[in-house]
Amino acid sequence: MSDNPIRVATSHALPSYLDPHHLGPWGIFLQQVDRVTPYLGNLARWVETLKRPKRILVVDVPIQMDDGTVAHFEGYRVQHNTSRGPGKGGVRYHQDVTLSEVMALAAWMSIKNAAVNVPFGGAKGGIRVDPRKLSLPELERLTRRYTSEIGIIIGPTKDIPAPDVNTNERVMAWMMDTYSMNVGETATGVVTGKPISLGGSLGRHEATGRGVYTVGVQAARRMGLDIAGARVAVQGFGNVGGIAARLFAEAGARVVAVQDHAGCVYAEAGLDVPALLRHAKATGSVAGFEGAQALPREQFWDTPCDILIPAALEQQITEANAHRIQARLIIEGANGPTTPAADDILTERGVLIVPDVIANAGGVTVSYFEWVQDFSSFFWTEEEINQRLVAVMNNALDAVWHVADDKGVTLRTATFIVACERILRARDLRGLYP
Ligand code: NAD
Repeated sequence: MSDNPIRVATSHALPSYLDPHHLGPWGIFLQQVDRVTPYLGNLARWVETLKRPKRILVVDVPIQMDDGTVAHFEGYRVQHNTSRGPGKGGVRYHQDVTLSEVMALAAWMSIKNAAVNVPFGGAKGGIRVDPRKLSLPELERLTRRYTSEIGIIIGPTKDIPAPDVNTNERVMAWMMDTYSMNVGETATGVVTGKPISLGGSLGRHEATGRGVYTVGVQAARRMGLDIAGARVAVQGFGNVGGIAARLFAEAGARVVAVQDHAGCVYAEAGLDVPALLRHAKATGSVAGFEGAQALPREQFWDTPCDILIPAALEQQITEANAHRIQARLIIEGANGPTTPAADDILTERGVLIVPDVIANAGGVTVSYFEWVQDFSSFFWTEEEINQRLVAVMNNALDAVWHVADDKGVTLRTATFIVACERILRARDLRGLYP
């Protein structure tokens, strides 16, 4: 027997694209495009462009494990559309990542970047891996090998990755270093979400949560909902959910419930968010937090609240729980958290949804600022970044709100109208080559 047997890392979860009862993220995106097509006028002749990713790369990522064996993981990088600029989108490490999911996430990046009018197309990457089962050196080897494998299509003017679920500043530093070693020069602009000392931007770490908070406050104001004292429930307590929860609590809201992958905690008077953040950092989850009531995870959806922030994974709000949700306002921190059927149920019930493609665009907006700063080698203050971020988010929400009122459609459809028009106009102006 070889000293170095080959292991194939697999997950037992049925991939969503094989489950006939499960629409899957890419199917949801296609439905969203179909809903918006009647509003696109002459540009509708280009709509097929949106239904086909420009480029899909599937890579084998073999790494040597600490015990000397070799494990293989499947990695993806999808460039959905680059009509308006280079591809841009995060990299996700998760045991359930599928190509269909990465295709949808890349497509939502195209929509999001166009909705906030940053000059990027849409892309996304991922590795089908449970990073919690890897040691730090294994995680580094995985990241470096993956970066080398996708190095043929990424680059500061081609496609710029960033953090997503289970990836962070440290992973971005490894990606930047690996790409730089391969091209023979330090290329800080190849990824965003880097550590500050490597060309990262002040405010980037907090940007997505701050964007969620910013549009949440504006939407609440338009609905006549006072943030001070408002009850907020948050699913997912990582980069997006944790920071959004902190900002809402600082503004006087009561964060009454938080659910993550391992538990759910509830306090009617409001959770001590800084203490909960410290607990989650120390233990890896909100479960076991003292000073709060532990709830069965499923009960999260019944929690009495005014504002619900899904900030974990896609397809969390479905036909099965949409009727139970008590919030008046949903701000989608996660990408694709609401299925189209649940969207219809909630709209029918008068619940206002600020869709992911606007609500969580704060991250890519400051990623754009980071990329600009890297190119010019001139860095802005945190105050400047946050001011510009708030301006971009407010302008984008104002614009889609206007379209929603004008056409009598949901904020999601309005955002898709604005974004698809921008993408397809660029497509139309560029024409086809050859
Ligand atoms: P993260 O890894 O920092 O945190 C993810 C959180 O979700 C963790 O608290 C985890 O416990 C929780 N979670 C995981 N599975 C869950 C489940 N089944 N049920 C309940 N909770 C679960 O990730 P993040 O960066 O905060 O990303 C969260 C979402 O926001 C994702 O949909 C991501 O695509 C989206 N997003 C992130 C950014 C960003 O800048 N980080 C930008 C835009 C959108």
